[in-house]
Amino acid sequence: MQTGKIGVTTENIFPIIKKFLYSDQEIFLRELVSNAVDATQKLKTLAKLGTYKGNVENAVVRVAVNKDAKTITISDQGIGMTAEEIEKYINQIAFSGAEEFLDKYKDNVDAIIGHFGLGFYSSFMVAQKVEIITKSHQEGAQAVKWECDGSPDYSISEIEKQDVGTDIVLHIADDSLEYLDESRIETLLTKYCKFLAVPIVFGKKKEWKDGKYEDTDTDNIINNPTPAWTKKPVDLTDEDYKNFYRELYPMAEEPLFFIHLNVDYPFNLTGILYFPKIRNNFEVQKNKIQLYSNQVFVTDSVEGIVPDYLTLLHGVLDSPDIPLNVSRSYLQSDQNVKKISNHITKKVADRLFDIFKSNREDFEKKWDDLKLFITYGMLSDEKFYERSEKFALFKNTDGKYFTFDEYKTLIQESQTDKNGTLVYLYTTDPQAQYSYIQKAKNKGYDVLVLDGHLDAHLIGQLEQKFEKTHFARVDSDIIEKIILKEDLEQSNLSAADVQDLTTIFETEGQQAQFTVQCEKLSATEMPIVITQSEFMRRMKDMAHLNPGMSFYSQLPDSFNLIVNTAHPIIEKINADKNSELQATLQDLTAKITAAQDEKTAMTKANEGKKDEEIPSADKEKTADLDKTIANLEGEKRSALKQYAGSHAVVKQLIDLALISNNMLKGEDLEKFVHRSVKLIQ
Ligand code: ADP
Repeated sequence: MQTGKIGVTTENIFPIIKKFLYSDQEIFLRELVSNAVDATQKLKTLAKLGTYKGNVENAVVRVAVNKDAKTITISDQGIGMTAEEIEKYINQIAFSGAEEFLDKYKDNVDAIIGHFGLGFYSSFMVAQKVEIITKSHQEGAQAVKWECDGSPDYSISEIEKQDVGTDIVLHIADDSLEYLDESRIETLLTKYCKFLAVPIVFGKKKEWKDGKYEDTDTDNIINNPTPAWTKKPVDLTDEDYKNFYRELYPMAEEPLFFIHLNVDYPFNLTGILYFPKIRNNFEVQKNKIQLYSNQVFVTDSVEGIVPDYLTLLHGVLDSPDIPLNVSRSYLQSDQNVKKISNHITKKVADRLFDIFKSNREDFEKKWDDLKLFITYGMLSDEKFYERSEKFALFKNTDGKYFTFDEYKTLIQESQTDKNGTLVYLYTTDPQAQYSYIQKAKNKGYDVLVLDGHLDAHLIGQLEQKFEKTHFARVDSDIIEKIILKEDLEQSNLSAADVQDLTTIFETEGQQAQFTVQCEKLSATEMPIVITQSEFMRRMKDMAHLNPGMSFYSQLPDSFNLIVNTAHPIIEKINADKNSELQATLQDLTAKITAAQDEKTAMTKANEGKKDEEIPSADKEKTADLDKTIANLEGEKRSALKQYAGSHAVVKQLIDLALISNNMLKGEDLEKFVHRSVKLIQ
């Protein structure tokens, strides 16, 4: 027996391993099992080359838990190690240069972990003692046993071992006894080793017999050594891809498309990505991509590693260039990882374009499910926008799909306004905005459905990209004004009448503000129309998804209440008002005019004078006049308000307009119903 010190003089490497990797303790199993797989594959290679004569065809890796002895053993039938190799690979290599490095980076945990492929030594996170019992494949090799209790001291001795290969025996430490639970180990094996390239056996398959589970004679193999992504696309059918998806996500709905990635230059990358159906709740869809390195699971939290919108995809990525054993922040800054993610962006866009070109009908069918993903990509990645411009679609209210170019051609002629701006009309809710859509259609216009979560943002982006283009929701104004073809007709009423009507129809909403506007629409249009200005509404829509814009979401909704002065009922209200209030209005108006004239004269007389040169009597007089005017206007206002209050039809018209926008609720709705009944009686 020989003893020695592990080839690193620092005494504190084990405490560091234990402390810094504590949260990721469980990776010890991945490390040991993948070492075992590596050793097996190496021996298989030697056998293929004819250097090794033994039979390795059926080699497996076995993992066994012994609760009584408090051990976990990982056994392989791989190349094994000689005493010299243990000296070289285990005793020295792992921490060569460690001391110097630790000194330099002692404040940067990520760098420390990133530097050391901790590999074999991670076993000391859970074991108080580790044994390596190994026999090299070399002819006549002497089997050896290496032992170490976590201090830098180890011992090595010659032993008897029948078969070529290595057993790693972990004597589990008292604070890690949880790992002696078989179901825990099985879970870890399934998580990290599911697609390792050599069969991993963990006990026997169990069978339900006589009221309990009993072991059968069949080995319990926990992995699929040849997952779909490692095969050639030509050898796989659509069904195979779907089956693999089910293997990855047993509970998920069928995916829309898949992409088989296979790159070997300038880096190595294989994998299969799937487009899931993404309707609305995209948070639950995220973080489904699994990252592998040579079939060894690395992580399934890929945020920051692949662009955010790609995290909506599902599937696996496998690259030997993705470093194992490193923290997320290390992965995020790794150059290879960055290149990989750019490449995936390109592949994804290319694949979508291919499907679009080769089977547009199918692409259109799946568009609604794809749209959120593509919109997200377009908004967050300029390159992706440029690529997807060719296949991104618009859907109109008739359920027809158009590319951006096709749609422009469709509406260019009819929807360009008198200033040469092309106006894209859209609805965010075809049901709620039905009457506005109809009005637009009656004018021969087309209306898009932009009801997606990110559409308010997309619209902003498209307005920047498209030249002289404006997007307007169908209810953002009366249609004649949204697409202004020629100047609107002058009002049929006098300015005074318009002012009076504005006062009469002023209304107070609970959460909303209304601005009254008189317009001469056609006599067949509704007497009152409610619209909501594009800008504010869009800002508020965007604020829902963007905490930085919360200022907008706190503002009350503001609407325009458009009074159609050409409608017979409005004309009648105006006429009635004039006859009922004629005397009052004339009198008040005359007084207001007189006061205003007097004020104007006074202002004129003092024109050009400095403030201190104006006689104080004049100043007082002006202030008095202002008060008089305000009072008179107040009187006029209350006369008009009283008129509005005593004519149920005014409130009725406002309520009808609110109702047709689904805006009349609660007590107001109740009052409306009662008033309606009375009016009918
Ligand atoms: P890495 O696997 O990253 O090289 P490890 O510390 O895990 O680092 O292992 C160091 C070396 O020890 C391996 O490269 C390999 O040569 C040897 N080794 C580890 N486990 C085994 C095994 N089960 N069979 C044969 N050799 C092994």
